[in-house]
Amino acid sequence: MKNLLGIHSLVFSGGTKPSDIATIVDGANAAGFDIVEFTLQDSHHFEAQSVRSQLVEHGMGAVCSRGLRVDADISSQDPAIVEQGARLLHESIQATASIGGSRLTGALYSAFGKAPGPLTAAGRRNVVSVLREAAVDAAKVNVKLGLEVCNRYETNVVNSAKDALALIEDVGSDNVDLHLDTYHMNIEEDDFVAPVLAAGERLGYVHVGENHRGYLGSGHIDFSAFFEALHTIGYEGAITFEAFSTAVVSPTLSSELAIWRDLWEDSASLATSAHEFITRQLAAAA
Ligand code: MN
Repeated sequence: MKNLLGIHSLVFSGGTKPSDIATIVDGANAAGFDIVEFTLQDSHHFEAQSVRSQLVEHGMGAVCSRGLRVDADISSQDPAIVEQGARLLHESIQATASIGGSRLTGALYSAFGKAPGPLTAAGRRNVVSVLREAAVDAAKVNVKLGLEVCNRYETNVVNSAKDALALIEDVGSDNVDLHLDTYHMNIEEDDFVAPVLAAGERLGYVHVGENHRGYLGSGHIDFSAFFEALHTIGYEGAITFEAFSTAVVSPTLSSELAIWRDLWEDSASLATSAHEFITRQLAAAA
C-alpha cells in the first residue's frame, strides 16, 4: 500500500481566513501532497465548512494537530486545569471532525513549552484517565488520536518512543497510537531505527522534519535509516512534512515552536522539494 503524503499548513500560511486556507490547500495540492495537517492552535478562527469544502474540491484529506495550554493541561495536578484540558481536547476532536479530519495528533497530553519540573505521578494519572475518555469521545466521530513524542523543551510527559508506548499501553485504547517525528527523535532517541521497530504496528503517524526544520536533506538527519525502518515494519500510515521559518508565521504556533530563524522563503519550492525527497526515500527503502 502506498503511504499518503502530508504537509503542514504552516509551510504555506499561518492564517485561518478562507483565503489563507485556499493558499494552503492549493499549495499542498500543487506540490503533489494528499493530506494537509492543520494546527488547531488558532482553530477558533476557522470556518470549518469552508475548510472542508476546499479539501473536498481538491480530493485531499486532513489531519489536525495541537499542544494543550498551561491553563488547560491534563498533566497538571490541579483538577480545574485538568478539566479545562479535557474540554480543550473535546473541542479539538470536534474541530477535527468538522473539517472531515481523520486524526488529531500532537502533544495531546500536556501544555506546549518548557515545563518547570518533571512530570508527577498524579499528573501522569490525570493524563491516562483523560486520554482514555478522549479516545472514546474521538472514536464516536471517527477521529484517531495520535501521541506525538516531543523533545524535552516542549513537554515533560513523553520524550521518547519508549515513554509514549508505555503511556499508550496504560491508556489501553485501540483509538490511540504513536506519532514519531524525526526532528524530536534527533534530540531524544539513540537512533532513527530502534524507536520505529519498538513501535511496530502501534506507529500510526509520522512527521519528517530536518534537525533545524528547514529543507529536507539540507541538515544531518539520517533519513535513509528512518525510511528503511519504516519499510521493515511495513508502515502504511501517512508521512507528513513539517518545516518552519520566520517567512511564514502563525500567531501562536511559531512562538510555541521557537521559530526565530529564516530557514526558507519559497513555500512552493520547499514543498515540491520535500515531496520529491520523501518519494525518493520511500523508493530507495522499498
Ligand atoms: Mn512534529
